[in-house]
Amino acid sequence: MKRYGRTILLSLLLCLWCGVGVRAMENDMLKVGIRYGSDAMFSANLQNYDGAGRGYAFGYFNSARAFVPLGAETKENKVSITIDNHVFISGSTYYQSAASYSQYIGAYHLQLDRTFNSCEDAAKAAARYDGGFVAYLTDHYAVRVGQWRTAEGAARALDEWAGEDAASIVSPSRTGVMVTVSGTDRILFYFDCGGLRSLGVMPQSVSGEKPVTWFRGYRYYGGFEYQRVTGGNMSVVNVVNVEDYVKGSVGWEIGNDKPLEAIKAQAVCARTYAAMQTRHRSQGFDICTTVDCQVYQGLASANALTDRAVDETAGVYMLYNGKYAEAYYYSSNGGATEDAKNVWNEEVGYLRGKADPYEARVASRIAGYNWTVNFTGSELTEKLRAKGVDIGAVRNVYVSELTPTGNVLALTFVGANGTKTVTRESCRTLLGLRSMRYSVASDAASYFINGGKTALTGIRGLFTISGSGTVSEYDGEAGEAYILTSSGTEKLERDARSVSADRFTFSGSGWGHNVGMSQWGATAMAEMGHDYREILQFYFTGVMIE
Ligand SMILES: [Zn+2]
Repeated sequence: MKRYGRTILLSLLLCLWCGVGVRAMENDMLKVGIRYGSDAMFSANLQNYDGAGRGYAFGYFNSARAFVPLGAETKENKVSITIDNHVFISGSTYYQSAASYSQYIGAYHLQLDRTFNSCEDAAKAAARYDGGFVAYLTDHYAVRVGQWRTAEGAARALDEWAGEDAASIVSPSRTGVMVTVSGTDRILFYFDCGGLRSLGVMPQSVSGEKPVTWFRGYRYYGGFEYQRVTGGNMSVVNVVNVEDYVKGSVGWEIGNDKPLEAIKAQAVCARTYAAMQTRHRSQGFDICTTVDCQVYQGLASANALTDRAVDETAGVYMLYNGKYAEAYYYSSNGGATEDAKNVWNEEVGYLRGKADPYEARVASRIAGYNWTVNFTGSELTEKLRAKGVDIGAVRNVYVSELTPTGNVLALTFVGANGTKTVTRESCRTLLGLRSMRYSVASDAASYFINGGKTALTGIRGLFTISGSGTVSEYDGEAGEAYILTSSGTEKLERDARSVSADRFTFSGSGWGHNVGMSQWGATAMAEMGHDYREILQFYFTGVMIE
């Protein structure tokens, strides 16, 4: 009876998961962190892509990520957003120090004492003053006039103030931002909600076309948000529909010249991955633009093919047990994918290792598919020390455990003062190897007879005789082998652990972490006629594509 009750509860929870709360983003709008942290900016320029004078609307993005216009807009093509402090302009370059400059934006202003309930009323009042502009301050509008570098300068101006409204001096704010016409000191709009909200800038559409905006050499769909989260410089966030975001990402991640179905599989991965990102939420956005999350540089890599792949999979996500699946991918696996458990020590039902029969078909086109890298003993010693592991001078390293699919699960280092075994992802990352699919060879003997007491200098020139009498050169890999010596038959032993060498060669294939989809395998599958659903269902065991 109790058990029955629990079953019902569980399925109820599952339904709730399906309906709401699974997706990290609201209204399909994604917040992409373009500049933040140490890359946060004191000034940021925007330019309408086609230069047709579409201009921008100013407002903010609400908690549902809808743009709330404040009634302020401009027809200017190029605007600059700057922090509310001293900004010096020389030509089109912005500085925070006053070395040499021709224009100045900042820091002290006069503000009319009366407030306004609408942007329109404020704009009418501002138009009566030279250098007047509208300011939005949390819940009302104000009119500000002029700009001075010092409070004294503003005070002198106030002494001479002849305006019909009373005015006061306002100082720089740690949460305020200004919008100006780029390369000039002409202030279009001021925004300060005390950090409660951030300025949103939305490029305007002409005849329903989707606006595209230049920001630092890249083109973007969607709007922009300028967050002074810590009171210093601004984080710049692209607020963009997830489909437009995916259009900007797939080309970077798989290439815009791959077969359509492979790009479609990548689009579903990119969309699903983006939908569940919450790691950067404390920084004010969902997802960053580097390989840390997913590479995204606006529309630079988008073309008709990638747009088509995104459009033909619009709204399609990859799910497992009713939840978004973690859509991991990588360039190539070298022959077999791997359990998430064996890489990140996380048991994930759909991230299962399996032999990949597809990649090999396109291996000749994959740059660096087969790789070799050499290390000396002292180089390995240093690599370990850099990770805080000191086992003395390294004299051997060998693969101590393989996964069932043949990837490296454990790698053991033997040093003068002890041994160290690393496992899972560290087998790849510790030495900066391209993949976890490799073998290690050394320049010293690793074959022994006489119960391990006599080392052979190598296995070249050794021949084996099979049970049926066939003679063949010994390949070193066969199971049990015996050698005929003057004293009788000796068992040949392979013992990587007792090697002492100074040169180690790692030979492997593939590039990436091997969990989830191989982008090259997807390419091969698409070329064989598989569609994107088949590709995803091969690489992600038991997922639903819907
Ligand atoms: Zn990230």
